Amino acid sequence: MNLEVNHLSVDLSHKGIVKDVSLKVEEGRFVGLIGPNGSGKSTLLKAIYKVLSPREGVILLNGEDLVRTRPRLIARSMAVVGQFNELDFDFTVREMVMMGRTPHKTLLEQDTTQDFEITTLALAQVDLAAYADRSYQSLSGGEKQRVVLARAIAQEPKLLVLDEPTNHLDIKYQLQVLSIVKKLRIGVLAALHDLSLAAEYCDYLYVLHQGTLVAEGEPEAVLTGDLIEAVYDVGCKTYTNPVTGKRDVSFFPRP
Ligand code: ADP
Ligand code: MG
Repeated sequence: MNLEVNHLSVDLSHKGIVKDVSLKVEEGRFVGLIGPNGSGKSTLLKAIYKVLSPREGVILLNGEDLVRTRPRLIARSMAVVGQFNELDFDFTVREMVMMGRTPHKTLLEQDTTQDFEITTLALAQVDLAAYADRSYQSLSGGEKQRVVLARAIAQEPKLLVLDEPTNHLDIKYQLQVLSIVKKLRIGVLAALHDLSLAAEYCDYLYVLHQGTLVAEGEPEAVLTGDLIEAVYDVGCKTYTNPVTGKRDVSFFPRP
């Protein structure tokens, strides 16, 4: 399953927020979207998961135009973990994860033993097996984040869209969540704010700056001191991380 975004522009309040962005996520690739706060990452992802309508451009999922595809059909292939995971109503953790099964069922179909097993497995993958009967509302931000990831896993998608999935998590779970996602071996498009994690996990990166793509390529090629200094407005040195063997970065304030 691949995703192709062609010349996408999104306006909010008549202002161009995403400007002529084209990108691709090929089958099984972990693709990162980086860029400072306000560069348009969430807006771009929202257009991809159809919360916002683009002004221009086309989004193709396996060659099918997303605008013309029924949401239920999209949900069979694409799962989303957004940035905010608050709910107005309370559900148990298992009920939340069970919602991931909905696109695969008919309207009145009961949950099957197979659905139950899939949700149990998904919860175990995010280390929350013991939380199945807890109230979702009672969880910490990080636990909610992992439940929402479990729901996405239970959806058995072929493409996963993630908006800063490690935002509320402490270091252990940042690494855990990205490792789980990587092991799914499906296409991933993830907005990430941590450049070290982006370098460690992504096969390919797109860099967004003021709504425009300013660079793309493998992390080694993209994460240069000059680019990061220009885009993030900080001082930056890059080096090879002795533990991961990957490109890494350290920052300092600009004089
Ligand atoms: P990122 O996810 O990269 O931090 P966002 O996509 O959330 O960036 O936001 C991009 C820009 O769009 C920001 O400058 C934000 O202030 C602006 N923005 C968000 N919502 C609206 C809106 N409803 N009207 C006008 N501008 C908006
Ligand atoms: Mg955002």
